[in-house]
Amino acid sequence: MQIVEPSFEIQDDLDQASLVIRLEACGRICYKSEEKISRDSALPFVTKIAEYGHNSVLEMAAVTLRVTGCSEEQIAELLACEPRYIFIDRVADALLVTGSIRSFRELSQRVGHTALVRAMVDFQAGSHPYLFEGVWSGPSPELTAGIAVKKLPLAEVELLEPELLARHRFLGVKFIINRAVTHELVRHRPCSFLQESQRYCRYSQDKFGNQVTFVKPMFYAEDSPEYGLWREAMERTEQLYLQLLETSTPQAARTVLPNSCKTEIIVYCNLAEWSHIFRLRCSPAAEPSMREIMIPLAAKVKERYPQLD
Ligand SMILES: Cc1cc2nc3c(=O)[nH]c(=O)nc-3n(C[C@H](O)[C@H](O)[C@H](O)COP(=O)(O)OP(=O)(O)OC[C@H]3O[C@@H](n4cnc5c(N)ncnc54)[C@H](O)[C@@H]3O)c2cc1C
Repeated sequence: MQIVEPSFEIQDDLDQASLVIRLEACGRICYKSEEKISRDSALPFVTKIAEYGHNSVLEMAAVTLRVTGCSEEQIAELLACEPRYIFIDRVADALLVTGSIRSFRELSQRVGHTALVRAMVDFQAGSHPYLFEGVWSGPSPELTAGIAVKKLPLAEVELLEPELLARHRFLGVKFIINRAVTHELVRHRPCSFLQESQRYCRYSQDKFGNQVTFVKPMFYAEDSPEYGLWREAMERTEQLYLQLLETSTPQAARTVLPNSCKTEIIVYCNLAEWSHIFRLRCSPAAEPSMREIMIPLAAKVKERYPQLD
């Protein structure tokens, strides 16, 4: 068995990647199949994921659009559709609209016949038609006449005034933590999550070192009797898990795995939601293993965006 410390990583590298590369890199965390990433793997991976309905992968890329040339009636029509998980703000002569591929897909499916929705989806599907397969029937120039849609590059999103920055800047963080902490994290419903799956991962495989990995509990000093007991329990659990794998599937064998199991999870949301999470999860009332990871992350985010609460 292996014991690791908890850690986190802000996914800056993926912010610079194309949409499909970003989606593939995030999606593969579920299967821990990152070794399969190649120059040509992203498109087939993402297309298959969309077909399977593994929809949360499509939440892992948010796009900010600057929309001009629309009438007050068209804006009212868009708002009346009550777009879900999409952030809309008026700025001077334009609308700023941020949402994930999934949110735009579902909006298109539901109200793709409305002018602003169609214009935004036409724009995105123009460069990435495979992401809108089944929910988009091609451009509709008559319906969208006069409306201009442009992508707002991340560098420009970063320059928005604080209130807009908080709503439109999405940040992905990959955590390596235990399963008890991820159970708490996934309660923050406005976020998008992707997590290593114990159904698909078979820890007896070479790529996992033929062993189970656990996160060191911050509650016990390494030389304490309690730590000794915890270690003993993990060793025994690992033996039983590996034994069960000899005759059953990972999804069956995982039923013996404990909260201390190491897992990887990506949390993706806007800065306003991160601020809210930090307020709840850095407070003295929060669970200590959650604070252990959230306090340093909050400090890092604050250092980058001192203008935010
Ligand atoms: C110190 C602490 C102790 C806790 N203890 C427990 C516990 O013992 N047991 C337990 O089960 N949980 C517990 N929780 C979890 C807690 O109740 C929340 O579920 C969790 O903190 C996420 O809250 P949230 O407001 O960020 O997210 P959400 O509850 O997801 O809310 C985020 C936003 O989405 C909106 N929203 C989303 N869905 C709905 C909906 N259906 N109805 C209304 N509004 C919605 C809310 O208005 C809110 O603005 C604890 C949390 C903390 C911080």
